Amino acid sequence: MHTAAHPRFPMAASPIMPKPIDWGSLYRGFSAAVTRIDCGALCAKRNKAVPVCCNNRRHIPLLFRDELRWHIRHNGGMWRKRTARTKLDKKQAAECANYLEYCLCIGAEKCRRAKRSLTCRFFPFEPYIAEDGVFVGITYMYRAAKDCPLIDNPDILPTKAYVRQSIKTWERIFKRYPAERELFYEVSRALERSQKRKRRGIKVFAA
Ligand code: SF4
Ligand code: SF4
Repeated sequence: MHTAAHPRFPMAASPIMPKPIDWGSLYRGFSAAVTRIDCGALCAKRNKAVPVCCNNRRHIPLLFRDELRWHIRHNGGMWRKRTARTKLDKKQAAECANYLEYCLCIGAEKCRRAKRSLTCRFFPFEPYIAEDGVFVGITYMYRAAKDCPLIDNPDILPTKAYVRQSIKTWERIFKRYPAERELFYEVSRALERSQKRKRRGIKVFAA
């Protein structure tokens, strides 16, 4: 759970609850293609024609609970809550923040691109927050490098529009869910440690 206020981010302790997110507008503002090529074709070959990040068994999508509710109201059938069956599933569900839900989508064949979740849009990038608490930009999810050929690939970089929109979207998410900012502060520190051990740097894309 990531609910405690972080001393670096006084906003987290504010008693004023930010306005709920207008998911339709958030999605419309984050529609740029990740790359200039159809990256799905790069990885679908090794996953029975399904892009690896759309394999819900391998990458279980985590939606904001409000986001899932919005989908159920407006886009029936596209997203549903994933029922935790195994011990591991139940443990993961119990450990996840109380404003998030493990979900399943309708599947790559029937996917409506305009209705894909934020998780789908963010992948394979995540926010990088510097040690002084500044949200600098987005970086690769290096831990998924085996699955996604875009990660750390200097030949296929994200488009400027994608980087700009992703950062803007994270800023809105951090305003509504300050605990996410705290979480990524810790994720960024862990990433620094792991890349240092491997003697590798961290590539950050800023707007
Ligand atoms: S983001 Fe990565 S895993 Fe997803 S479709 Fe593109 S190349 Fe494949
Ligand atoms: S909603 Fe679409 S883009 Fe997202 S995981 Fe499902 S098939 Fe892939």
